[in-house]
Amino acid sequence: MVASKAVTIVALALPVLLLTTTAWPQSHALPAGDVQAIYKRLLPQIERIKIFDHHAHPGFGDDPDVDAQATPPQHLPYRARETNPELVTAVKALFGYPYSDLSDEHMRWLADRSSKAEKGGGTEYFDAILDKCGIEASVANRVAMASYLNPKRFRWVFFVDSFLFPFDNKSVTGENPDQGVYIPLQEKVLHRYMQQAGISRLPDSFDDYLGFITRILEENQKKGGIAIKFEVAYFRSLYFSDPSKDAAAAVYRQYHSGGVPAPEAYTTFQDYVFRYLVREGGRLHLPVHLHTAVGEGDYFSLRRGDVLNLENVVKDPRYLATTFVLIHGGYPYFREVIWLASMKNVYIDTSEIEVLLYPSEFKNALKLWLETYPEKITFGTDAYPYSSALGSEQEYWLGTHSARDALTAALAEMIASGEVTEVEALKMARGYLHDNAISLYPR
Ligand SMILES: [Zn+2]
Repeated sequence: MVASKAVTIVALALPVLLLTTTAWPQSHALPAGDVQAIYKRLLPQIERIKIFDHHAHPGFGDDPDVDAQATPPQHLPYRARETNPELVTAVKALFGYPYSDLSDEHMRWLADRSSKAEKGGGTEYFDAILDKCGIEASVANRVAMASYLNPKRFRWVFFVDSFLFPFDNKSVTGENPDQGVYIPLQEKVLHRYMQQAGISRLPDSFDDYLGFITRILEENQKKGGIAIKFEVAYFRSLYFSDPSKDAAAAVYRQYHSGGVPAPEAYTTFQDYVFRYLVREGGRLHLPVHLHTAVGEGDYFSLRRGDVLNLENVVKDPRYLATTFVLIHGGYPYFREVIWLASMKNVYIDTSEIEVLLYPSEFKNALKLWLETYPEKITFGTDAYPYSSALGSEQEYWLGTHSARDALTAALAEMIASGEVTEVEALKMARGYLHDNAISLYPR
């Protein structure tokens, strides 16, 4: 009896012994490891990951097809100003720029270089930019593709906002100086689509108008379009009610051949057409990209553009077949936006944020997201030809370098705090920089 009692004591004591001698995973608030050493170990591995840039507007500065809108005069945030010395680093790395400032005189060197490439018309110039930034392929979110962009490396995402503005837009255009710049450009895009469909005026019936929209979506998909893009947060609220088709058709009947609709009537029409486009995006397997962060221009409304306004749409089970990509991650509402990614069809893109913010702060947003839904976060630069100092070329460089730095720092902290292993961290890095986004599109 004595012997068996001893055995029982040993058996009981064994799990306790194991618990005290084996390091079972447990995360902790303070880093237990050497964050700097982990960062140094991870960085070269992360630099080798070829990137898929999920949101960019590549192009030369004078190409009107780069975007469906222009940049109104604005008070630029600190890092985006031409005084940012990182821009000199970017052009030295990309082009071997021989000067150490961006004075008007020296920038002529850059302008000459790019206009020579533009005149040459080949695809090598932008291919080389991607190569230098370690980008395998990039989205080209543009009104139309350009012959100087290699279709094997640049994948077209086209704009659909203009379908929401077919009537007399006098009242919208007069809202503030920014709208005065934006809305006429939307009208131009709609006219372009009408030309594409061979019509000189809006169809008589609402059903035919919806048929015209579908025709453009299908044609643009055949021309290589992989997703549709809304920048509608610049023009109106991101809250879309759920009006009946009859209500929208009544507005169309009244205004398609003239007259300025009252704001409520116009909104009813737009809410219906927006949801129609969301459904078509699901049917045609064209993911829906939505601008969801603070935008350019001094009049951008943070309240109207708040990404949470989209909650009733992205969490609507009727749209489970539609993939939503929340471009620019709803910034500054980044703490809130990640909870929308609980939906299997909702993804968060980080473009613009890694250039608006410095890496020291971008790292914190990225870390929170990777700690919550790491498989739903995708990378983008928002490269765009803002000015001769900040062209899309420089932004590709700044975006990729800032993001790799912030990503490595976020993962190093997570490893040192016992949240993930290095193997898991590198899987997250590959997901963020490439795999998560690429899985959404046909090869
Ligand atoms: Zn953009």
